[in-house]
Amino acid sequence: MKVLVINSGSSSLKYQLIDMETEGVIAKGTCERIGIDGSKLTHKAKGAETVIEKDMPDHNVAVALVLDALTDAKIGVISSMDDIDAVGHRAVASGEVFKAPTLVTDESIAKMEELCDLAPLHNPAAIIGVKACRAAMPKTPMAFVFDTSFHFTMPDYAYMYAIDYNDYEKYSIRRYGFHGTSHKFVSQEAAKYLGKKPEELKIVTCHLGNGSSITAVNGGKSVDTSMGFTPLAGVPMGTRSGDIDPAVVEYLAQKENLTIAQALNYLNKKSGMAGVSGVSSDFRDLTAAADKGNKRAKLALDMFGYSCKKYVGAYAAAMNGVDCIVFTAGVGENTPCVREAICDNMDYIGLSIDKEKNLEKNNGAIRDITGKGSKVKVLIIPTNEELVIARETVELL
Ligand code: ADP
Repeated sequence: MKVLVINSGSSSLKYQLIDMETEGVIAKGTCERIGIDGSKLTHKAKGAETVIEKDMPDHNVAVALVLDALTDAKIGVISSMDDIDAVGHRAVASGEVFKAPTLVTDESIAKMEELCDLAPLHNPAAIIGVKACRAAMPKTPMAFVFDTSFHFTMPDYAYMYAIDYNDYEKYSIRRYGFHGTSHKFVSQEAAKYLGKKPEELKIVTCHLGNGSSITAVNGGKSVDTSMGFTPLAGVPMGTRSGDIDPAVVEYLAQKENLTIAQALNYLNKKSGMAGVSGVSSDFRDLTAAADKGNKRAKLALDMFGYSCKKYVGAYAAAMNGVDCIVFTAGVGENTPCVREAICDNMDYIGLSIDKEKNLEKNNGAIRDITGKGSKVKVLIIPTNEELVIARETVELL
């Protein structure tokens, strides 16, 4: 069985064609700068990489280009659309409408459209991607797989905000959490690696990338997570502020003459590591600048490490202990100084890391950086959100 996974971002579209018998990737690629000048498709298959520079005014065109590449006589891997047995679409916001992966139907698309104001950047792009795929493959079954599903096991006292309960009921204002497919995948991989059942473990998973979130996974279930109603909450990120006193929004809007939407755009796009450092949102640039003595880059990194550390401590408290901490995603897998900052001075929970192992380069495999005598395991596990989406699509069908 071959499953195509489509992950539509606001200006990008990532895809993977996965053979579910082996769970191997047959082809994968990315469309970048959709709707912006200089868009291109990078397609990887049969050990080769092809870059196609072509205008992509919207996600419709991007999907058409991807399907062309997959069936192309030279760089393609399938002879026709009929070779694709199912399509799994990553969906960001579910509200309380979808608590689990859901079949793509006219009805579910209409409900997704109603949820667009919850994820104005991601949901509309995902819907266009879904419609374009349906037009090209009208008979192929498809699923929406949500970033939020894994977190629906949170208890009410963890997902509720302390606002008027009537407004929670009226508008579903609550913590949803995101990156669920990643937190689920790495927590299950950690259990496998440790030779235990997920039910036996208390794990804190740190998905640290351009967007970052930290999750408490108790007995295989998400019981709390750092992102909230939207991905703006939690630790500071590449360009997002993370947790902030909401009164700042009004104060900033007044001082800078901004609308609420503009102030939120500032907190989503101009804050975080980029805002504090004035250097970049990219951790490679930040660590390079800090090494050269840039104080604001160092401050941004210190703030990031400190904030993540507080979440780890909070979740250890929430679960009455922690057996394992997992680092994943771009920063979690590749930035030793961040892992060290988070794990330093954690002897109060019996945690230490092996500083030498922590410095070793990412080789794409699971790495155990647990320190000698540490009671808490510390693992680096490459995430694979696409594989989870493919697995959940197959399970649903
Ligand atoms: P997202 O999926 O949220 O866009 P990623 O998980 O790809 O983000 O993470 C991107 C971040 O990871 C960037 O800040 C980047 O600097 C950092 N990073 C550090 N080293 C690497 C590396 N070798 N490869 C990819 N990303 C890296």
